[in-house]
Amino acid sequence: MAGRLEGKVALISGGARGIGAAHVRLFAREGAKVVFGDVLEEEGRKLATELAGNGRDVAFVPLDVTREEDWARAVKTAVDSYGKLTSLVNNAGITHLATLLEETREGWDRVIAVNQTSVWLGMKMAIPSMRDAGGGSIVNISSLYGIIGSIGMAAYHASKGAVRILSKAAALEHAKDGIRVNSIHPGIIDTPLANSMLTEEYLKHLVEVTPLGRRGRPEEIAWGSVFLCSDEASFVTGTELVIDGGWMAQ
Ligand code: NAD
Repeated sequence: MAGRLEGKVALISGGARGIGAAHVRLFAREGAKVVFGDVLEEEGRKLATELAGNGRDVAFVPLDVTREEDWARAVKTAVDSYGKLTSLVNNAGITHLATLLEETREGWDRVIAVNQTSVWLGMKMAIPSMRDAGGGSIVNISSLYGIIGSIGMAAYHASKGAVRILSKAAALEHAKDGIRVNSIHPGIIDTPLANSMLTEEYLKHLVEVTPLGRRGRPEEIAWGSVFLCSDEASFVTGTELVIDGGWMAQ
């Protein structure tokens, strides 16, 4: 049976681990040719080697999402290696624990650069090639924290809220190009980012506020992107997909 992403060429940022690595695995399994980038070069190359060994069309490129020249190289790699670019997942992100008053200028600027400016840059660099391909799909990984507030992550909330609305603006600007743009809003997911940044106590609290009573798995977010990047979602643009175990329904 053909994969759901057969014929697609995808670029995925932050693909070396966590939710991004789940995307790389699932997109390749569903038939896409995948270029993925990350600042974690060793982990990225290891994943690419593993998947290539299983016969997948996957390539790793070093990518710092705050750098325009890195994006240009990543897009070029996709087009040179696989002939086109049809799908972009802006997944790379960081968290910084600080309230509005605790936050430093340096901390604020870093979170905004990695989580927000990067999404604009990625779209700006990828869209011309997607247009050449006759259209495509962009998925921007925001967060439930791009929709609701909490205490102690002011810059993160600001960056993820911006990604949500930037996705809608991009969807409107590029509907005429056949390029669909949507955002995904994960609740609490079991990844290195969440595990290293949050205390056991806070993680327990997040599970308690999640009606399904557990953390999500990285692939449960990646399945959302598979849908949005597939032709099954051909009439879906400018919208937001919340994948949070029911947290926001309360
Ligand atoms: P993670 O830390 O496990 O993975 C993030 C990846 O992004 C890493 O491989 C990291 O090296 C990469 N990255 C960081 N800075 C980068 C940069 N400047 N350039 C390129 N790559 C960079 O985190 P994750 O939990 O898998 O998060 C993935 C995305 O999902 C993030 O945007 C995050 O904000 C979002 N998210 C996560 C959760 C959660 O609970 N884990 C919840 C909501 C949203």
